[in-house]
Amino acid sequence: MKRRRLLLLIPLLLFLAILVASLYGRRSREYASDQFLMDTLISIKVYGRDPKVLKSAVSAAYAEMHRIAELVDGFPQPGTAAYNSSDVCRINRQAGLQPVRVDPDVIAMLLLAKKYNELSDGAFDVTVGPLMDLWGFGGDSPHIPPPEQIRSALALIGSRDLLLDSRQQTAFLRRRGMKLDLGAIAKGYATEKALQTLKKYGIRKALIDAGGNIRVLGRNQHDTSWSIGIRDPRKPDGIVAILPLEDAAAVTSGDYYRYFEAGGVRYHHILDPRSGYPATGNMTVTAIAADAGLADVFSTLFFVLPPHKAMEAAARLGGVDIFLVTANRRILHTPSLKGRIEILSGGGYHYEQGR
Ligand code: ADP
Ligand code: MG
Repeated sequence: MKRRRLLLLIPLLLFLAILVASLYGRRSREYASDQFLMDTLISIKVYGRDPKVLKSAVSAAYAEMHRIAELVDGFPQPGTAAYNSSDVCRINRQAGLQPVRVDPDVIAMLLLAKKYNELSDGAFDVTVGPLMDLWGFGGDSPHIPPPEQIRSALALIGSRDLLLDSRQQTAFLRRRGMKLDLGAIAKGYATEKALQTLKKYGIRKALIDAGGNIRVLGRNQHDTSWSIGIRDPRKPDGIVAILPLEDAAAVTSGDYYRYFEAGGVRYHHILDPRSGYPATGNMTVTAIAADAGLADVFSTLFFVLPPHKAMEAAARLGGVDIFLVTANRRILHTPSLKGRIEILSGGGYHYEQGR
């Protein structure tokens, strides 16, 4: 009797085992990988069923990011392969001399940069290179430059003298001494290219975090919005707000990331190309847009503008939401974030829109 029951149980157990195995096989898995690139730790997480596809998608996405990083690298050693493969270096070396043929992605970034230079009345300017060099934020010893040097650097800035020919695929800095710096756009642009690469592999859920440049694809593994924490600009491990995000990018520019202090004043790496000094209106600005390249441009652009102008410009430009903490500790955001963004109390900031 007992034996008969046992014999009946075997096929049932077998069936269950097969069922579990097949469900497990089709279950969505996570694959995550980190790499140090463009001066930051990049992390890519993807979700899907086939581990092999996940892995190849992520490695293709990183390859794309490496390719963009090389094209825009501003500081490779002369004589190295990196020196010759950097389009930005080549354009800078030929400033005042001749146009340079560059990669279509470099043209795309420069076109975007020029467009938003005009739309921001010069607040966003990728020809800020000579001024960045002067302040030394790219190196180990940033310092306040003498005013006369700031004046001469300012004379070399102006995207009007960045000439682009999309048909010939060339870029030209019209005056000798001019210098491109794509620090405000390259990471976001590369992040977007990486995400588009993941999509080509059939990936439908992913998160790329490129040092504060977040781009998500679809919804998260629980099929709800991703939650993005916005860093408190004055508390290293604190968060001021939680932002829900789906199929979009959220990019933050802050004064807490690269800075030095002198005489009780904080000097950071986002410069106002009109004054020659670090922008003073905001501590942190997050821009939310469909495309990570655009969001990167926006985060820097709105950071440079005084808060009320930033709010105005965001409404006028459209296609973007912004969240900001102003220098006088006020929290502001575009109206459509209301009810979606969660503001955490305790940071000592004033938030009036919530009332
Ligand atoms: P992060 O690089 O810290 O993520 P951003 O995207 O705001 O922050 O980029 C800041 C970088 O952009 C600077 O390091 C510099 O290379 C460049 N930059 C600084 N000021 C400007 C500006 N006004 N317009 C365009 N680029 C700028
Ligand atoms: Mg930026």
